[in-house]
Amino acid sequence: MSRPKKERFVFRPPLYADFKPAGIQRHGSVPLSLELDEFEAIRLADYMGMEHSEAAEEMEISRSTFTRLVEKARGKIARFLVEGKHLQIGGGNIHFRGNLIRCHDCGHMFNIGFESDIDICPACGSGNLIDLAGGFGHGNCCRGHGRHGRR
Ligand SMILES: [Zn+2]
Ligand SMILES: [Zn+2]
Repeated sequence: MSRPKKERFVFRPPLYADFKPAGIQRHGSVPLSLELDEFEAIRLADYMGMEHSEAAEEMEISRSTFTRLVEKARGKIARFLVEGKHLQIGGGNIHFRGNLIRCHDCGHMFNIGFESDIDICPACGSGNLIDLAGGFGHGNCCRGHGRHGRR
């Protein structure tokens, strides 16, 4: 019998999701997809400098799973750098702990919980807001998952 893959936790949506090498007009290659859990592993281990055990706890996975995840992610980043692949972040069996909103009018960015229903920009009052978690296909599904985190 097969166990459903456990959801992993990503602190908040990435700011940028699409990367291409500069100076190439037509880029016909199939994008290399960095899944959201792979992105989070890189962020925790390599950007934040966390120990694997600590980072694993953050994502609610085992240390060995985390180590495999970060190695897979590094392999993709290496291919991006060496082969000039078009890299897109998305997918993966995850939920976000919190959301990130960007104001389309003034560029202001702010963190928000999924329970919150702020719909105007606290900086300029615009209602033209970009829901980053929503852009990755998340939102209501993350509700309730964020609460059992340490933050
Ligand atoms: Zn604004
Ligand atoms: Zn979700």
